[in-house]
Amino acid sequence: MNGTNPKVIEIDGKTIGYEEGSTCNRLVDIEGGESFMCDGTIELEEGEDCACHLSAPCHYCMERQLVCNGCGERVEE
Ligand SMILES: [Zn+2]
Ligand SMILES: [Zn+2]
Repeated sequence: MNGTNPKVIEIDGKTIGYEEGSTCNRLVDIEGGESFMCDGTIELEEGEDCACHLSAPCHYCMERQLVCNGCGERVEE
């Protein structure tokens, strides 16, 4: 038993999505001890603070992250 039980686990042999438009393929734990493979898509997170209409790219768009639209995992580079 170790104390770490990460919510999202990478799986050998599967390509974990790290780029915009790729499939997530992360194994996501759900309640009841079960898990499923996320088939969500990695995309840039939605922005409400975008100011690109003033000057593009705005600070917000420079900072925003890639996020899976299925499990919500943030992709760290
Ligand atoms: Zn913007
Ligand atoms: Zn996902």
